[in-house]
Amino acid sequence: MPLAGCLMDHGFKTVALIGLGLIGSSIARAARQAYPNLQLRGFDSDPEVRARAREIRLVDIVSDDPAEAVRGAELVILCVPVGAMAAAAESLRQGLEPHAIVSDVGSCKAPVARALGEALPGATIIPAHPIAGTERSGPDAGFAELFAGRWCILTPADGVDANAVARLSAFWTALGAKVEVMDAERHDLVLAVTSHLPHLIAFTIVGTASHLEEVTEGEVIKYSAGGFRDFTRIAASDPTMWRDIFIANKDAVLQALGHLQDDLSTLEAAIRRGDGEALFDWFTRTRAIRRAIVYEGQDVAAPDFGRSA
Ligand code: NAP
Repeated sequence: MPLAGCLMDHGFKTVALIGLGLIGSSIARAARQAYPNLQLRGFDSDPEVRARAREIRLVDIVSDDPAEAVRGAELVILCVPVGAMAAAAESLRQGLEPHAIVSDVGSCKAPVARALGEALPGATIIPAHPIAGTERSGPDAGFAELFAGRWCILTPADGVDANAVARLSAFWTALGAKVEVMDAERHDLVLAVTSHLPHLIAFTIVGTASHLEEVTEGEVIKYSAGGFRDFTRIAASDPTMWRDIFIANKDAVLQALGHLQDDLSTLEAAIRRGDGEALFDWFTRTRAIRRAIVYEGQDVAAPDFGRSA
């Protein structure tokens, strides 16, 4: 159910961000731009990140205590790795306002929803996932335009206050995102296919190529623009974040991986028997998918992703 274009004012005066890395700092920058008068509070478990956030004035108040950081906030967004969600939620419980909406940005939703529900019984919890990111981490990696034109998927459980969902939707719309509401399990299956599996393939290919580097004597790096280079960008993604995603979204990832193994066997067999027609048909289908993504505005059509070299 798309909620894009929702013009309702979210009505939040104070928003707290727990975790001030790529996503937390991007939310801070985008919210600052959209709502200069919004009070932003923040906490990160890493003292160096807190110091850096103070230095660059990322939010109005960087607290050394998570419970203190969320005091007075009508919206609290957890921007920590999926495996740290439970601990982060427990650490802020004492300071949480009874009327506050608690959300997160984790890359898988059903396990995070369960963790937040257990840590914060009775709270209004609306999990969310902005489908936007880069391979970089930390408070300096964020930028205000990260969510512009990108989807943000909300996965409220049945019975969650519809007004709270509409307010969170209005907040993400103000940050530039297009908002959609989805069932958490469905989200996890879709993202296993569109994000988690491609990352797993990139981690595999780059790992395999590095093993082959001994045989190729440095030529893998030298000639990386042949395709390998694009996988290395994805394979450079944050190890903590991706370890947590594969552990939390195990069932959906294994389901998608089963399909991939079948398809690899099909292509292997086509190559083995020299079946050019089968390969050509397959590659024609995949080219059409790339064109559809560009048509939907989810990427640009520039050759080589707009690289000049
Ligand atoms: P990040 O740049 O590594 O930032 C996460 C920050 O949270 C780190 O500074 C981390 O500190 C801190 N942290 C860890 N545990 C904490 C806790 N209990 N309380 C407070 N802070 C804590 O990661 P990110 O890329 O912003 O990712 C954050 C979330 O967004 C993840 O759940 C990820 O799945 C999701 N997401 C990421 C992307 C992407 O492309 N990166 C896209 C969409 C959604 P330490 O480093 O010391 O642990």
